[in-house]
Amino acid sequence: MRRPLVAGNWKMHGTRASVSELIDGLRLQDLPEDVEVAVMPTFVHLTSVIDAVADGAIVVGAQDCAFEPMPCALTGEVAASQLIDAGCRYVLVGHSERRQLLGETDALIVRKFAAAQGVGLIPLLCVGETLAEREAGQTLDVVMRQLRAIVDALGVAVLERAVIAYEPVWAIGTGLTATPEQAQEVHAAIRRYIAQCSAQVAQGVRILYGGSVKATGAAELFGMPDIDGGLVGGASLNADEFGAICRAA
Ligand code: PEP
Repeated sequence: MRRPLVAGNWKMHGTRASVSELIDGLRLQDLPEDVEVAVMPTFVHLTSVIDAVADGAIVVGAQDCAFEPMPCALTGEVAASQLIDAGCRYVLVGHSERRQLLGETDALIVRKFAAAQGVGLIPLLCVGETLAEREAGQTLDVVMRQLRAIVDALGVAVLERAVIAYEPVWAIGTGLTATPEQAQEVHAAIRRYIAQCSAQVAQGVRILYGGSVKATGAAELFGMPDIDGGLVGGASLNADEFGAICRAA
């Protein structure tokens, strides 16, 4: 049995005051025990959030890490080992905003993934196609290319200690959600692809859906056989909405 995971990606949002308010709101939520709940604040808010949830059911992840795992002369970056030391469990790698707006390549994402795992962080690898790629019938080619970069470089076994998020780029922050059937088709293809290398890894790996997930419709998405939870952006900034999404998983 795969334990569902719902992770809130707060992106570049929040002030000390609003983050504190959001955490207070989340602590009042009735979060299901059989669902793992994670939040991913900006680097500047990480330690205050980690301290605030230390006694509870919420774990914390970062939104990025450096390709070098250990502290070194790399101005502006944060090492995966520093994230572990701070108390993080997860780190996003390959989010489409970083691929598209900051030019992150598959090769760089492989290095970040390896850096994270090397120190015990769990990488949450984001994959997904643009609208143009979907319309050109290239969805599975793109998603498998992004996944193959990791498997070819590091081996399929690394997925035993990782999470995958299928996030169609056209659904992120647009209000357009993939239908449960559209998402399930890609999730099943990802699992089939991994099963070609290892049936055991394919069975165990959690594959989250991300892209304008809201409380309405979340249960239908999470009810699909290969969808193991969600990566939630905008809706995770509202404690009641995020709580409802967690309860739907
Ligand atoms: C995301 O940024 O990972 C995301 C899924 O955003 P949203 O839910 O706002 O589409």
